Amino acid sequence: MPAFRAPRGTHDLLPRDRVAMARLERIGAELATRYGYRPIETPMFEQTAVFERGIGEVTDVVEKELFRLAPRSDEAESWALRPEPTAGIVRAYVQHGMRTWPQPVKLTMSGPMFRYDRPQAGRFRQFWQFDVEAIGDPGPAIDAEIIELAHRFYADSGLHDVEIRLNSIGDPACRPAYVAELAAYYRPHAERLPALERGRLERNPLRLLDSKAPPLVELNNAAPKIPDHLCEACNAHFAAVRDHLDALEVPYRLTPTLVRGLDYYTRTTFEAYPAGDEGQQAALGGGGRYDGLVELLGDRPTPGIGFGLGLDRVLLALSAAGVELPAEPVPQVVVVGADPAASAVRLRLATDLRAAGIAARAELAPRKLGRQLEAAAKDGAHFAVILGDEAATGHAQLRDLKAGSQKVIATADLVAEIERADRRHHHGDAT
Ligand code: AMP
Repeated sequence: MPAFRAPRGTHDLLPRDRVAMARLERIGAELATRYGYRPIETPMFEQTAVFERGIGEVTDVVEKELFRLAPRSDEAESWALRPEPTAGIVRAYVQHGMRTWPQPVKLTMSGPMFRYDRPQAGRFRQFWQFDVEAIGDPGPAIDAEIIELAHRFYADSGLHDVEIRLNSIGDPACRPAYVAELAAYYRPHAERLPALERGRLERNPLRLLDSKAPPLVELNNAAPKIPDHLCEACNAHFAAVRDHLDALEVPYRLTPTLVRGLDYYTRTTFEAYPAGDEGQQAALGGGGRYDGLVELLGDRPTPGIGFGLGLDRVLLALSAAGVELPAEPVPQVVVVGADPAASAVRLRLATDLRAAGIAARAELAPRKLGRQLEAAAKDGAHFAVILGDEAATGHAQLRDLKAGSQKVIATADLVAEIERADRRHHHGDAT
């Protein structure tokens, strides 16, 4: 047993995993660029109030899962690690006066998020999200555009069986009456509710709808459904979102119990699940409209919509679906030599190759040539450059480890020759 391990609920991304994660980040960044989103990076921690106000105090994310940083005695502010990207991005929108920019302001970010949750399969204390936010557009067309973008991300990453669940949770005009009705529905059962849910019954009954505590699973089936209580404007908005999704041929399942865990959502909410998976843990991403959030964080009322996609879970789902991921990059060339002690000469040549843009490794250990060549083959390198007696005349042996061929070549021609042979190997290109 090693003395130290990564903290509970976190996991090291070893090179193979990091390459797979980087691929997802790249797919996300390229998609977002194509859809007109621009990159932003906000700090990994914010003043706690940004999350308390922005996400809502009566939510799991703030009540139970916020990673609070212990303040030093000389600091008056209190900070927390970001549990999700939206609150920080909207804080930046307000702080930098982005309402004077052309609207909507479309921003994208990917990186680690932190929730002090009970760790279990697919639920980590540090996890990666890919996120997009469009601030300043009331929809409904952009709602559909953003859901289509999420849908395309999964397909591009190799997941084809993802179900989009869709709901509308109304707005301040219609939700309060619905919430009152919901509370009235639960109240007679208050005695049977677990303590947390009982507390929330009066403070935020909507939260009970996504509780998985045993008595609630059953109660929720018969609970009043929010789509039956939408005001005319929310109804029209929701119908238009569906029409746009139909026009884009994005399939979705209407899910009247989908309320999302964060307080700031209004109207459109959606989540993505592996098709056929009924578990909550499996959500691959989710998002929605947050028309009240900009105002909550101190600016004039401004509509917005976004989604966050859990990249760790996408990787788990890809692995469960048996999707083959790209291999780790390997050196193209390993420079080896007949004189085990001449590591400086080998290193010099590798440095020149790297400067020319070739992924090269030099054998640095003073071991026998045979051993050096074995290690090069094990690395998966395409070529070994062997420095021997010919080095005195500016030549080397170039061995193609894949083709099993070898020839003498002027070191000055190495770069051109390696590039040519590599092109032939990858593209069957005869030039
Ligand atoms: P949420 O804002 O909670 O809906 O989170 C958005 C997405 O992030 C979820 O759909 C998950 O894919 C992912 N996610 C949320 N919490 C975790 C976690 N603790 N561990 C791993 N992924 C998570």
